[in-house]
Amino acid sequence: MRSVCAPAPQLAGLEPYDPKYLPADAFLSANENPHDVDKDVRHEIMREVKRVNLNRYPDPLANDLRDMIAEANGLDRDQVLVGNGGDELLFDLALAWGGPGRTFLNMPPTFSVYEANARLTNTTVANVPRTADFRIDEEAVLARAAEGGIDYLIVTSPNNPTGELAGEEFICKLLDATDALVMVDEAYFEFSRLTMRPYLAQHKNLVILRTFSKAFSLAGVRMGYILGDAEVVREFVKVRQPYSVDAVSQAVARVVYANRAKFEPGIRAIIDERARVIDGLKRIPGVKPYPSDANYVLFRMENAGQIWEMLYGRGVLVRDFSRAPYLENCLRASIGSAEENDAFLRALRDAVMGKCDL
Ligand SMILES: *Cc1c(COP(=O)(O)O)cnc(C)c1O
Repeated sequence: MRSVCAPAPQLAGLEPYDPKYLPADAFLSANENPHDVDKDVRHEIMREVKRVNLNRYPDPLANDLRDMIAEANGLDRDQVLVGNGGDELLFDLALAWGGPGRTFLNMPPTFSVYEANARLTNTTVANVPRTADFRIDEEAVLARAAEGGIDYLIVTSPNNPTGELAGEEFICKLLDATDALVMVDEAYFEFSRLTMRPYLAQHKNLVILRTFSKAFSLAGVRMGYILGDAEVVREFVKVRQPYSVDAVSQAVARVVYANRAKFEPGIRAIIDERARVIDGLKRIPGVKPYPSDANYVLFRMENAGQIWEMLYGRGVLVRDFSRAPYLENCLRASIGSAEENDAFLRALRDAVMGKCDL
């Protein structure tokens, strides 16, 4: 057999994305909503999906869904774009604003997809690390932005995996300090209740990313969207895969979006559970939870890698960051149902107290 020539050089050293999903009783590793879409909404989804013409290409830009999202946000259709999950739009950002000779300002530790996309597109990454307690080093970021040569930045608010919000005042200063495109990744804004949307009108260089995967229980469907200036959105359309959002996903998302008020009690329950989980973590000796405005909690403790194993041995899957840069000895637990959270806290307490043999 003939051998194959080397792939593009920027792939060297890149690892394929691996969410490390394993079967578990309490699945607390992917920041999903613990409750699936309720029965009534599911019925409505089925009705809508039955009407989809499977033989026809979908509306490339999902204009019906775009209109719904635009109206809810007081924007025009051309200020909204949907993607195959927020992840597609993050890749589109790197395609449209990155590339050879261009620079992305990253604030690690944060969502690892950003840096991977920059590398795939041969974009230079300028890292301005967060402080020891994971706050954005605001002065350093503003200074680096003011220096020039940055083409885009992503401010994750709340940040994944660390949980804290970015300051509104800081983002405003940043928008004035640079003409770089500033994406505010609000994947978890339904749990923080804070958004930069009111600032879109005054700032052409602001674009907001949202997703249906977290608060709206649709991680399995793949639907995300951006809100921004019409000219900025047009650039995203240029690099986007024409039919990336299929007709079935469009139908599902329309129904869920129309019914979004029904998700409110579930979101509220997650916020209440979050306080309870953080409180429970604080009571376990040697465990340091970080504050969170999202649907997960990052915590640090000695021997976190071993503790991860012990939790998994008890059927509780959390995300292991213990060997990740800046996140030594950190684990991240998504907020699940009350039962899942209890199982997690119990297993962690037992692991720390040495009641668990491994
Ligand atoms: C989950 C997540 C997204 C988007 O996820 P999709 O499932 O692709 O919509 C974007 N940014 C952050 C920080 C996330 O955690």
